[in-house]
Amino acid sequence: LSENTLIQLGQAERSVTTTCAYCGVGCSFKAEVKGQQVVRMLPDKNGGANAGHACVKGRFAWGYATHPDRVTQPMIRKSIHDAWQEVSWEEAVTYAASEFKRIQAQYGRKSVGGITSSRCSNEETYLVQKLVRTAFGNNNVDTCARVCHSPTGYGLKQTLGESAGTQDFESVLHADVIIVMGANPTEGHPVFGSLLKRRLREGAKLIVIDPREIELVRTPHIEASYHLALKPGTNVAMINALAQVIVTEGLWDQAFVRTRCEQPAFAQWQEFILRPENSPEAVAEITGVPAEAIRGAARLYANAPNGAIYYGLGVTEHSQGSTTVMGIANLAMLTGNIGRAGVGVNPLRGQNNVQGSCDMGSFPHELPGYRHVSIDAVRNEFAAYWQTELDPEPGYRIPNMMNAAVAGSFKGMYIQGEDIAQSDPNTQHIQAALENLECLVIQDIFFNETAKYAHVFLPGASFLEKDGTFTNAERRISRIRKVMEPLGGKADWEGTILLSNALGVPMNYQHPSEIMAEIAALTPSFKGVSYEKLDQFGSLQWPCNDEHPEGYKIMHTETFTRGLGNFILTEYVPTTEKITQRFPLILTTGRILSQYNVGAQTRRTKNVVWHAEDKLEIHLQDAEDRGINDGDWVLISSRAGETRMRVEISNRVQPGVVYTTFHFPESGANVVTTDNSDWATNCPEYKVTAVQVARCEEL
Ligand code: SF4
Repeated sequence: LSENTLIQLGQAERSVTTTCAYCGVGCSFKAEVKGQQVVRMLPDKNGGANAGHACVKGRFAWGYATHPDRVTQPMIRKSIHDAWQEVSWEEAVTYAASEFKRIQAQYGRKSVGGITSSRCSNEETYLVQKLVRTAFGNNNVDTCARVCHSPTGYGLKQTLGESAGTQDFESVLHADVIIVMGANPTEGHPVFGSLLKRRLREGAKLIVIDPREIELVRTPHIEASYHLALKPGTNVAMINALAQVIVTEGLWDQAFVRTRCEQPAFAQWQEFILRPENSPEAVAEITGVPAEAIRGAARLYANAPNGAIYYGLGVTEHSQGSTTVMGIANLAMLTGNIGRAGVGVNPLRGQNNVQGSCDMGSFPHELPGYRHVSIDAVRNEFAAYWQTELDPEPGYRIPNMMNAAVAGSFKGMYIQGEDIAQSDPNTQHIQAALENLECLVIQDIFFNETAKYAHVFLPGASFLEKDGTFTNAERRISRIRKVMEPLGGKADWEGTILLSNALGVPMNYQHPSEIMAEIAALTPSFKGVSYEKLDQFGSLQWPCNDEHPEGYKIMHTETFTRGLGNFILTEYVPTTEKITQRFPLILTTGRILSQYNVGAQTRRTKNVVWHAEDKLEIHLQDAEDRGINDGDWVLISSRAGETRMRVEISNRVQPGVVYTTFHFPESGANVVTTDNSDWATNCPEYKVTAVQVARCEEL
């Protein structure tokens, strides 16, 4: 039934345009509402990112918003061993503020910090980082993007000058050769995945670089020209070999490199890339991919009129995540595949607002707009606007906060919309850190695993209960609009304001549009963004400013944001996570279409198609070696811990590699992942864990 028919039938009284709160595609929806109740979600034909399409999550998985598990009353307790007491908002924030002040007086200004959420709006994220910088007086603020795409922010800034993807989604319809590396778009980013499949069915060639055979490799009417099934942890070696083939065979775009890139950096890089260790033969030894396949894939990409690279967490969540991102950017510059439709470097962001939370200054070293806190002119501008002194020293990242908490020098945290006890690696270490905190304030829609260690719980609001904006993977800023009153009485941005006020740093905003006005005043790439313009255009892709008043689909068309493109040396350094006799298999992880991350929302939505449990995929040969049959329960042990799950024998994984999803707390996939992380950003190395697998009793 059409939207109008439903309204006429009386099933819905009004229609509100909003944005999906799941993945980084950022689909636009018409929420059909009766009273305070959503009747159905209809994909918006005018949606800039989805043009009327949607996946099962956005279309059907919104029931969690009114699930009985929702916490709707603020609560406090003095110790994590005490019972929770329901209190008013005023009492909760007053208690939290007094505890934060006591801790800072006792342990120092830097003993507290905060984490923003990629699930919350730009405006809410902006306020949390502002609270940390103004009320806590330090830069101890980080985002859950730390554990997913922080290497994208770092790597693309170093090479291209902007911490964001270069294209809009529609650009893929102009690509002739598409590399998909460490991503599974049909499961993780389904609406974009459909667009990609459309282009492949039209005849574009596909190269998949992934240890596992993702769905695209075996989709009907689509045939990957190459599936480079490399060993987990060897991405950098593979990128280097592809680049070497392109250079040695003279397939590079010399005119582009000469006019658009820094010459001394390129000359140095060229010398580096021609080293013998980057040859296809040497890299075949490292990756397990035949040299001829590497050569073939390199030729295919370099010879394409338009070659595009799409990548995901299989690139970033490694000890060399940032290096691979820079290697991908090198490859795109080398072949001149930057600055027009059909090309580019395209990170597929996981959560709805990963891009936005990074844009909004949630990093301990960067203010909104990716500007370093140590730059006097930038810091002074914010200090003048916020009427306070700002700390020029970068603060703690999440892993630093956890380490300092274990060591006893970090004692208080404000976490908005993030469940680090379930989603961060090495669960035991995170639990030990959280146990050591003297004041942990959680603001969330559900009582999550992290809340077990909290002293104050502030009820969060779902995307249906507030106004704001999300920014998707193509830098598209879209509105979310309130369709029902917050069940806990306050939207998250209102809760942050109360807490800041209680800390003695007043915030005066009546509506998120006023917060966006402040963001626009202080952030050059958002200068032209306002709620009025968002209503007028539907959405805006940043940079949106005087130069580009209606936003900008494709970046770096004439020059790079940093001026000239910067080739960076990408030496392959093997991960320290080695297989041994005790841990002979490599575990890698991913997602499935019908579930979402730790499952807090999708597991609370009734639907028969939902994937019911996490399973371990194992190759037949490895299963037989261990006497394991399909459907058996197995114990997975690593250097960090052990967990159990059911096994599925699968030829999607190669011998020596096992794979699982991480949607259920019972399976505890992150109990076994380690503390290893990206050298530049500390993004955890979720994708490479040495494990042993053995048959065991059912849980
Ligand atoms: Fe939501 Fe992503 Fe599905 Fe679109 S593709 S409906 S944004 S989960």
